[in-house]
Amino acid sequence: MIRYALVCGECEHDFEAWFASSAAFDAQSEKRLVTCPDCGGGRVAKQIMAPSVKSPKKATARSDAERLVAEFADKARDHVAKNFDYVGDDFADEARAMYYGETEDRPIWGATTPEESAALAEEGVPAAPLPRAFTPKPPKRARPKRDVN
Ligand SMILES: [Zn+2]
Repeated sequence: MIRYALVCGECEHDFEAWFASSAAFDAQSEKRLVTCPDCGGGRVAKQIMAPSVKSPKKATARSDAERLVAEFADKARDHVAKNFDYVGDDFADEARAMYYGETEDRPIWGATTPEESAALAEEGVPAAPLPRAFTPKPPKRARPKRDVN
């Protein structure tokens, strides 16, 4: 005996049925003897089955890796937030000032435009993009806002 998952070609009803053999199913199906229990239609076909690709073991391994990356990212974000000075949109100016010795070296992070980032690279100012996962939420600006004239 063999059990097939079947689908009705008329009403798309899914059902299962037992047959003596695969050849028996083919023979009965050809003669439209396999009918849908729902609508009685004779256009019944085997459901297309796909192999299951995820093994539970692999799924666990992947989620372990994802958890480790997430933990690492948390630590990296914390480290940046606690030890790096957020300079906001002034990053390019600050990085340049440190590079040329106008201000003291300190770890900073902030935002640049793509143009600023390209200019820094051209001048040889060391700066690297911070991966999004390692980027903390920008703190509220501690320094007073510039007066708007
Ligand atoms: Zn049907």
